[in-house]
Amino acid sequence: MAQKKNVVVIGAGVAGLTTALLLSKTGRYNIVVAAKHMPGDYDIEYASPWAGANYMPVSVRGTKAAEWDKNTWGPLEDLAQNHLEAGVHFQDCEIHSRSKDAGSATATWFAELLSPSPWFKDVVPQFRVLPKSELGPGIDSATVFTSVCINTAIYLPWLVSQCLKNGVIFKRAVFKHISEAATLGVHQSKKADLVVNCTGLMASKLGGVEDKTVIPARGQIVVVRNEAGKMMDISGTDDGDEEACYIMTRAAGGGTILGGSYQLGNWDSQVDPNMAVRIMKRAVQLCPTLTGGKDIEHLDVVRHGVGLRPVRQGGTRIEKERINGLWVVHNYGAGGAGYQSSYGCAQAAVTLVDEALETRAKL
Ligand code: FAD
Repeated sequence: MAQKKNVVVIGAGVAGLTTALLLSKTGRYNIVVAAKHMPGDYDIEYASPWAGANYMPVSVRGTKAAEWDKNTWGPLEDLAQNHLEAGVHFQDCEIHSRSKDAGSATATWFAELLSPSPWFKDVVPQFRVLPKSELGPGIDSATVFTSVCINTAIYLPWLVSQCLKNGVIFKRAVFKHISEAATLGVHQSKKADLVVNCTGLMASKLGGVEDKTVIPARGQIVVVRNEAGKMMDISGTDDGDEEACYIMTRAAGGGTILGGSYQLGNWDSQVDPNMAVRIMKRAVQLCPTLTGGKDIEHLDVVRHGVGLRPVRQGGTRIEKERINGLWVVHNYGAGGAGYQSSYGCAQAAVTLVDEALETRAKL
């Protein structure tokens, strides 16, 4: 059998951890995950802990993004069914549309999700269009299906533990240039054969990459102890184009996430208290069950938070290239879809690693 090649994955968000896990399952690589932030940290440069996170595809039919989302449903469904310790559970999901939102930024971004016949209707279980008689006030159409909600505080450490079980090494490191990762010195002082770049938003600043088409989409959230009983999303709000309304209850006591916002180009890490009130008011209006029909004073707040979605013009970058003679495989820029596309993207990245290092041919 050929000697194992050495791979360094930069980044311990959902992209880096899922890629490291799938690489480790091949048995073809010695793997080090090196990152500035690890599960357990909360930081504005680290998107993954802030996500809801659920599976609500907004990817457009026929695109690579839709393929990655499609390829991710199976593994997430398997976790919710067979690996309860991962912190992923099934939850009903209701998508509401208001005709007056047509043409708005959110409705355009959500076009596939809001469609009565999206590509994923045959992927997720029990997809159906709600009859008019079941629609709430101000709602013009709605669909429901079974989806999953991920408790990121459980799921990210679970990914780490699965990697550890497969021999992956974890190391704190901060790189100014991508080629520094190859000389980390943990592979018995040998240079890495390949670096996988899963740096999310920070791919915009990492030397050798500096992808200026990656920008933040600021998302503010409120975590509450109240339960919604289902996940809900709506095509728009009356509070401007940058604000959104969605609700999801995390698995295993993770609380309910009330969102949110989608503020492109905004790097502000601080909670806007006025926006927090608007988020809570909209959530209680869309889902009165949260407070038993009472006002927002009856929401029991765990914390407020802000995360930055790593949005890349042209979509997630899954490509291989040589930088200063070093093989690099990129997997960054998943925007608001990092979890729901995680397995599809990671599998595509593993294929590129195999191609670059020609490991499949040699084994
Ligand atoms: P990150 O999680 O940001 O990780 C980047 C990693 O790279 C970190 O470990 C960081 O320390 C490391 N790094 C970066 N630069 C360097 C460097 N120079 N040296 C060393 N290490 C470095 N997605 C969904 O699928 N479903 C949802 O419901 C959902 N909801 C969301 C709600 C909110 C409010 C937000 C903010 C996001 C949401 N997302 C959701 C999107 C999802 O969170 C992101 O797409 C995903 O977390 C991106 O993961 P990542 O691993 O690419 O980046």
